[in-house]
Amino acid sequence: MEAGEGIQKELNTLVDVLEEIKHTIPEGHYLRGMNALGAIHKHKQTSLARPIRDDALSGWQTLDEIMDENTDLYDEIMTVADQIIRELCGVQATIYTDSSHNLIHRGEEKEIFNKLIHYKPQEGNAGYETSPMILHHAIQVIMDRIFHDTYYELEIVRPVSCQCGWRGAQGNWDRHISNMRHQRWVNAELERTAQKRLDEARQMIVARREKGIVYLNELHFTPESKIATVEAIEEAEASGDRVVFISADGTLNSFT
Ligand SMILES: [Zn+2]
Repeated sequence: MEAGEGIQKELNTLVDVLEEIKHTIPEGHYLRGMNALGAIHKHKQTSLARPIRDDALSGWQTLDEIMDENTDLYDEIMTVADQIIRELCGVQATIYTDSSHNLIHRGEEKEIFNKLIHYKPQEGNAGYETSPMILHHAIQVIMDRIFHDTYYELEIVRPVSCQCGWRGAQGNWDRHISNMRHQRWVNAELERTAQKRLDEARQMIVARREKGIVYLNELHFTPESKIATVEAIEEAEASGDRVVFISADGTLNSFT
């Protein structure tokens, strides 16, 4: 019998009783009794009208909240997760392994995944004794671990290429960048870049030449612009020219 029906049945009994003794009690008492029953009837309507879903969910917390606020509950979730892992993956498996260790073997993901999303609390299994909230979070914890593991594995074998021409698995990248061939390529690349910057600086350094004067641009300071500037000054001195610097805002400064 539903709660609403049960309460209504008792209310009806009380109404009947009041009706039966109506003539033997003062009218005021009868009216107070009936009013009280009317009020209980109203309370019944409002409290039962609230959706049951609402009540069931209001006590739910997220895993993060539980982790922060309720260590006991968190431990319980992990215990249930551990038990479920053992049910699905065998007695050797545990949720408490190092996260770099794969929880399940490659190729088993799909089967375990299906078992997890179809996991039903049944007499004798770990989910049976626990609450829906704990079971939900326990399964989420396991899902998170399995997908993390799978993602990690896929990352390791993902093919990558290097500008030096090497191709290989992401997992070998760290070893590759300390490889001699790669290092030689990096050094050559650095030299090429430096040469390119020096060529650019040499092209930009001289703003204009007048009789006996060489106007040089004050370049944004880099090792290459310094070289280009020194070269231009030496060249001017060799030909007996004066050097005047033009700053970015157009100010002229004689070089002495
Ligand atoms: Zn490389």
